[in-house]
Amino acid sequence: MILQGKPVADAVLERTRAYIQQNNLKLKLAIITSGTDPASAIYARNKMNACASCGIDHELISMPESSTTKDYAKMIAHLNNDPKTTGIILQLPLPSFINEKQLIELIAPEKDVDGFTKKAKFPPCTPAGILTILDYYKGKNWLEGKNAVVIGRSSIVGSPMATLLTSRNATVTLCHSKTPDMTYYTKNADVIVVATGKAKLLKKEMVKEGSTIIDVGINRIDGKLYGDADFENLQDICDITPVPGGVGPMTVATLVARIVMLDKEVKKQKSQEKTM
Ligand code: NDP
Repeated sequence: MILQGKPVADAVLERTRAYIQQNNLKLKLAIITSGTDPASAIYARNKMNACASCGIDHELISMPESSTTKDYAKMIAHLNNDPKTTGIILQLPLPSFINEKQLIELIAPEKDVDGFTKKAKFPPCTPAGILTILDYYKGKNWLEGKNAVVIGRSSIVGSPMATLLTSRNATVTLCHSKTPDMTYYTKNADVIVVATGKAKLLKKEMVKEGSTIIDVGINRIDGKLYGDADFENLQDICDITPVPGGVGPMTVATLVARIVMLDKEVKKQKSQEKTM
């Protein structure tokens, strides 16, 4: 089965749109970009379009090329203090001379849509969205007792993915570039999440027939998009998400839903402060 992301993403966006309408919410997303990376421009546009479809106001802040880390920091501080801004995204990557790590931590946790700051209220959107895809196609308790392998240990995808799968009672192995014999783990896996940025890394001979593969990778080769799994040869023996059209749309839908969740959190905190 091909695990398409769009129907799952559409369902999340539809629920979000209805909730915003019913509660007459006025929400706003601010995306800060460097304006220099063409792929980032596409991702930012997708996020803004999804916000628009749900009635969330949005602003794209394209920083001048000459901007320094200090200039970005000033912009983040401004948005942190702007009562009209519900959520902030710092669209990565930024130019190499900008200190991304330092800037991420400057985003107020209650406005951190991506879930990248150390004090984030929610996990990063990509792994959270992957759980939603698995719940949609497999059912809520499916992961319990499963052997899961995550390939890639970044702080925004692989590592939080391993934590989330563990929280669903899967037995999780986290592989990375120093794992000597990855097939030893993947061959025995019921579910594999591959997030390495290495096109077609996961091959047919590495997996068990009937397993489920979630392909996070986005690799552009000669203008075409490829995932980290060898989709052509895996689709007949596994359930697999396509690239494009799998995890990508779900990440975007998750971050739109996240804006509503952040707004709820802020309101809950305010009402608790009032009763204290
Ligand atoms: P990073 O580059 O931060 O991390 C890559 C990870 O893969 C590292 O842990 C690295 O290991 C591991 N790795 C690299 N090569 C191999 C290998 N040959 N065997 C095993 N492990 C390997 O990438 P991200 O996690 O940020 O992103 C991964 C991919 O997912 C990218 O293609 C990115 O574009 C895509 N992505 C897609 C999203 C979506 O919404 N669809 C969202 C976010 C990312 P080590 O730690 O040892 O270096």
